[in-house]
Parts: sequence; C-alpha cells; structure tokens
Amino acid sequence: MCIKPKKDLKPLLALAKRTRKYGWLKNFDSISLQQAIINLDKAFDNFLNPKLKTKHPKFKSRRGRQTSYHCIGVKVLSDAVKIPKLGPIKAKLHREIKGKVKSITISCNASGKFFASILSDDNQGTPETCRSIDTAIGIDLGILHFATDSNGCKTDNPRFLLRAERNLKRKMKALSRKKVGGKNRNKSRLIVAKCYEKLTNTREDFQHKLSRKLIDENQAVIVETLETANMLRNYRLSKHIADAVWSGFIEKLAYKANQSGKHLVKVDRFFASTKTCHSCGKKSFISLNDRVWTCNCGITHDRDTNAAINILKQGLIMLKAEGHSVSACGCLHKTSES
Ligand SMILES: [Zn+2]
Repeated sequence: MCIKPKKDLKPLLALAKRTRKYGWLKNFDSISLQQAIINLDKAFDNFLNPKLKTKHPKFKSRRGRQTSYHCIGVKVLSDAVKIPKLGPIKAKLHREIKGKVKSITISCNASGKFFASILSDDNQGTPETCRSIDTAIGIDLGILHFATDSNGCKTDNPRFLLRAERNLKRKMKALSRKKVGGKNRNKSRLIVAKCYEKLTNTREDFQHKLSRKLIDENQAVIVETLETANMLRNYRLSKHIADAVWSGFIEKLAYKANQSGKHLVKVDRFFASTKTCHSCGKKSFISLNDRVWTCNCGITHDRDTNAAINILKQGLIMLKAEGHSVSACGCLHKTSES
C-alpha cells in the first residue's frame, strides 16, 4: 500500500492530539506540525522522481539543524519575534522588515544558535530583465583560481578547509575519545560544530561578496555548469572541489541576478571551453597540468582565461538566440596574454 504523507498523515494529527501519548502536540503551533508533513511529502516526491536522483528521506538527528515554519499569527516587534503559542522571543533584528510579514522560519544550527528568517511582501514585483546587453562577463570556475573572468582577472581560491583542517582534525579527535552519551561528549560536539560554523561562514561571506560584485558590474554573467558529482570521484581533487562549493556560488549568482534584473546564463558542461582556442576556434589536446598552452595558430593561451572567453562567447550566442540585443563582444578587453 502506498501512503501519501500529505493526504494520509495530516488528518492523523488531529486524532493524535486527542490521545494521551501525543497530547503534547497541542502545545505547539499546528501550522508547523502540518508543515513537517508537507516537507516529508516533498521529500518522498523528490525521492520517487527519477530525474532528481534524491536519496531516501532520513530521520532527522536531534542534534543537527532544526527548523520550524510559522505563517499564521506571526509578528515582528522592534526587538522580538512572535509566533503562536509562545511569548515574544527576544531577537536581534539585522535589517528593517518592509511590507507585510508572510512567514517566519525559526532554525537552530548544530552549534545551538537560533535564527529567524522572515518572509515579507513589499508589493514590488521582480524587476524586468534588461533586453539590451552591453556588459557581459564569462566566468571559469576552478580549483587553483576560484574564478577567472574573460577579462583575464583572477580570484584566488581561499581554500578555507585547508586552513581549518589541522584545527578541525584535532578537535574531532578529541570528540571521538569522549564517552558516548556523556556530558563531555556534548561539550566537545559543540566545539566541533562551532568550528564548522566558522568555516561555512567565511566561505559564504567570500562567495556573497564575489557574486555581488559580478552581478553589480555586469548585465549578463555567463558560467559553465559543472558536473561535480563525477568530479568528486577523483580522490586527489575531491576535497578541494567539495571545499570550493561551486554550486552554492552559482545559486548565489542566480538569485542576485534575478533580484536586479540581470542575466545569468549557464553554458552546457559538454561545451569544450578549455580545449578550444578562442581565436581560431580549433580544438587542441591539453592535459590538466597545462596552465599555459600554445595553439597551432600561434597564440599562447592562459588556460583559464581562454576557457572564460569561450564561455562568454557561447553565452552571448545563447542570449542572442533568445532574442536579446547584445552589443557586448566576446573578445578580450584587457589582454593579459598577448
Ligand atoms: Zn588557435
């Protein structure tokens, strides 16, 4: 028999609240209980969808990230947030909330910090995307340099994990020596969680700043979609690829572009951006170690810059095909190689 969580479990909530065993459910916001079932439903839908390759839903650990969603009876006060069945929760508001508050999602991360994400409607739709494009940039993402753009400008890969690794290793070793279920183990677990939190925060900060800069300076940003799942199988590179978190970076570019009416173009990953000479268009065989190579036509290329220019050219073709007027050109502005 197939159980649909949303259809079959939701009515059971009301029944469970009347029983002695699950009576405590009454003390909490009913919306957040229903939302948990909706989330479960979505998780199973994703799992059953063969296109998504999602794994079977897991039971959540009590120690990991926790969230609860509230959309009725929510309020944002000057120094607190209010959700149903609880008194005002003291909060530090980082920005002014404009418009009507639609929902509040409260989350608690592994290191025990609480956050409230507030969704509000300010009645302003997303800005229209610009039709004519005069500034565009191609980005090649990599390990040695996190991003190389089509103007030859390179952003170093900060390799956050590498820097935090020794510290993390020591703290995780200490955690593994603590008795399971003991007080000291919990203390040690919090120390490791804080260390990971710092690692994630520095990485996010770096990616937010870089993506903001790229979107603000250009009308179209063109990136290559990368198949990281396959690349992660390379054991020499996997750690560095996982540390770079390119997909998170592309996500940040996408929503920032959407917010400000700019274009983010994703070029197919089978497009041979590295091997093709951007000047004559012929393909050459180059290995992973060739950082600089010379094409048969006589031009010496920087590997990443050449790839970024090819990505830019391909992206501009795609934008033109979509009917945008493109005046940006796919050539090198500041030549770094000639
Ligand atoms: Zn060539």
